[in-house]
Amino acid sequence: MIIGVPKEIKTHENRVALLPGGVLKMKRNGHDVLIEKGAGIGSGFSDEKYIEAGATIIDDVDELWEQAEMIMKVKEPIEVEYDRMQEGQIIFTYFHFAASRELTEAVIDSNCIAIAYETVEKADRSLPLLVPMSEVAGRMASQEGAKYLEKAQGGRGVLLGGIPGVKPANVMVIGGGIVGVNAAKIAAGMGANTTIMDIDMPRLRYLDDVMPSNIDTMFSSEANIKKLLPDVDMVIGAVLKPGAKAPHLITREMLGTMKEGAVLVDVAIDQGGCFETSKPTTHDNPIYDVDGIVHYCVTNMPGAVPFTSTLGLTNVTLPYAVDIANKGWQTALAEDEELKKGLNIVNGDVVYKDVAEAFDMDY
Ligand code: NAD
Repeated sequence: MIIGVPKEIKTHENRVALLPGGVLKMKRNGHDVLIEKGAGIGSGFSDEKYIEAGATIIDDVDELWEQAEMIMKVKEPIEVEYDRMQEGQIIFTYFHFAASRELTEAVIDSNCIAIAYETVEKADRSLPLLVPMSEVAGRMASQEGAKYLEKAQGGRGVLLGGIPGVKPANVMVIGGGIVGVNAAKIAAGMGANTTIMDIDMPRLRYLDDVMPSNIDTMFSSEANIKKLLPDVDMVIGAVLKPGAKAPHLITREMLGTMKEGAVLVDVAIDQGGCFETSKPTTHDNPIYDVDGIVHYCVTNMPGAVPFTSTLGLTNVTLPYAVDIANKGWQTALAEDEELKKGLNIVNGDVVYKDVAEAFDMDY
């Protein structure tokens, strides 16, 4: 199979979908790999490294898309890429369809085969291709939130850990999954009083057992969120309903009960966001203010730390990609229930229930 890896073009997106080591693996399995010129530079991998591994470097991105039978990307195709997607072409990347009708319609119109990293699902319902990026985004969420709590950055001017004689900040993490736990670990590690909220009681029991003593757990309900909001300095939104739009758990009205200069970090923004006032931002312009509350809503947080993120991502995507290339998508998916869950749109049909429901489409 011919595999094509274009350079990522979303703002400040420096990750790449395949490393030179991945090229070597594909070559050993009898496949050809086309890498767009400079695709790996942002993650620290030169064109020479890819050539050494056996890849062909392509300057013209249109030519790469035309030749490739499978495109491997990191982020969802953006508008300039819509016309490049071809009938029968496998596209293996993050899509997050439920957050964009425009993208969903473009993929339907292209008749390509869209296999989404974010919905590949193991039998225990975990999402193996989201885990490393969630680990990065979670750890970054507290780091970024701490930065924007600084006065000069627009925040309240509070130090997360406090100092001897001065109380630490209060941090609320909504969603106790991978993002939430990693965010809580860093916030608590910096000394903040941290509360993790979730609707999954077994998960809360587990977290209560293993988390450090400055992390509390609380059931996530509107009443409990309202109760804590007036005292928190930073909220991290980390909920997920797989493949579906995130629920709005903090409304605009509720912002009025918060301290001025408190920070909301909405990590769930790539699924539409879990605060009513969230709207997607970029690393160039990551924050904005609504009613005196700082909002940080960057959709591709791991893109800011490409060295860590690319390694974390490609560790987990490569085995699936090799399988698709070796067997063809139909056999690979038929033989692997996990990968099968990744199929979202095929030949113009939406085949993933939550995506169809998000836009009232036939399924
Ligand atoms: P996860 O499945 O591991 O965790 C989600 C948790 O949310 C689960 O424990 C679930 O029980 C909980 N939850 C669901 N509804 C809830 C509610 N009403 N209140 C409280 N908790 C609730 O998912 P994850 O990997 O931690 O990802 C969380 C979100 O972060 C996703 O939307 C994901 O797409 C997003 N994400 C964003 C970025 C970014 O760059 N912005 C990067 C990685 C992940």
